[in-house]
Amino acid sequence: MKRLSILGSTGSIGTQTLEIIKENPSEFVVEALAANSNIDLLEAQVREFKPRITAIRDETKYKELKKRIGGMTQLTAGLEGITDAAVAENCDTVVSAIVGIAGLVPTYNAIKAGKNIALANKETLVAAGRIITKEVKKNKVRMLPVDSEHSAIFQSIGSNSRNAISKIILTASGGPFRTKTMEELEAVTVQDALKHPNWSMGRKITIDSATLMNKGLEVIEARWLFDVMPEAIEVCVHPQSIVHSAVEFVDGTVIAQLGLPDMKIPIQYALTYPERLAMGGKKLSLTSIVELNFYKPDTEKFKCLRLAFRALEMGDSACVVLNGSNEEAVRLFLDGKISFLDIGNLIERTLDKHKIIKDLSIDDVADLDRWSRETLNNLYKVGCCS
Ligand code: NDP
Ligand code: MG
Repeated sequence: MKRLSILGSTGSIGTQTLEIIKENPSEFVVEALAANSNIDLLEAQVREFKPRITAIRDETKYKELKKRIGGMTQLTAGLEGITDAAVAENCDTVVSAIVGIAGLVPTYNAIKAGKNIALANKETLVAAGRIITKEVKKNKVRMLPVDSEHSAIFQSIGSNSRNAISKIILTASGGPFRTKTMEELEAVTVQDALKHPNWSMGRKITIDSATLMNKGLEVIEARWLFDVMPEAIEVCVHPQSIVHSAVEFVDGTVIAQLGLPDMKIPIQYALTYPERLAMGGKKLSLTSIVELNFYKPDTEKFKCLRLAFRALEMGDSACVVLNGSNEEAVRLFLDGKISFLDIGNLIERTLDKHKIIKDLSIDDVADLDRWSRETLNNLYKVGCCS
């Protein structure tokens, strides 16, 4: 039986993870749950899954939650509380599914405590890929991807050696605005951007998918997960989201992983690897696929993808800035303060102001994340967007 700690249990990935656990009660035990502020859902989860530890990040919610479930679980709060859940004594695998940079420190602490990681929180690798991969090696833990593209790449690599890989082909749905012109993009609303054609996800990643920053973050995630250089990563727009990604090998062979777009498949595989568990639901039928299309991404229209490659080229600290400024820009967009195209414009200007810092520590990452947010907000306040 695997003993799991689920960080971000009330989110899209967290709730789907709990569905898998519910469907396979003899395979998994929930050791800890952690969320930010949704105490109604967290309470229901505690009643159903009976974790030994439960953490709530928002300390103002602690008292109320304590009143509701105090006797049923060890309740902790704040960042320290989230860390308690991340390093829970009997847990062997941590599902890292908090959204944004907030997931970094808990994931880092879980690795240091010797926990295997099922990684959904890509921002952890974007902001601290070098630090995290070093800790994974040092602590001899396993970090397996939950992200569907990276799960596909991991499965396509299989038992091949690193030297056999010549290229990673990362597919992208293209998001809801794939066919829009630049002029049309100027007028899109938050509601338009939240309508993803193939996937139902949290708000932040849904906006990232619309700007293609999600693919940019995934390029950086792939760079660290599979130890490949940016030149060996190709992004390919594939609107049907059936080919979840592919790997080209030195002999010209290309191996891809296919399936219906359902996050439960990669989540479950990250939890059961190297085994596979049966899963209900619709299966992919090749003969009912009308067509599969593949295009080069338009990085003029979707500048965020271009900026991610630029940050990778600049160096590790630029990736922290890319991530922090993106989180802040997405927040401003969701709050109705900036337009869709301003997201990329503000991130670009923030990157322009950044001077590379070498040999980052985890504290440097936190400082630089703060700097990026402040810088982007200042640019917004002085009217550096349309
Ligand atoms: P959601 O917004 O749906 O959920 C986020 C979760 O994180 C919630 O449980 C939320 O709690 C919790 N949370 C937010 N901030 C904090 C904090 N400061 N401390 C502790 N917990 C916090 O996001 P998703 O599930 O969509 O995404 C999670 C991660 O997985 C992201 O990094 C995303 O990029 C990645 N991912 C998601 C995919 C998807 O299909 N959704 C696919 C591939 C990757 P509360 O509910 O209380 O606010
Ligand atoms: Mg993905």
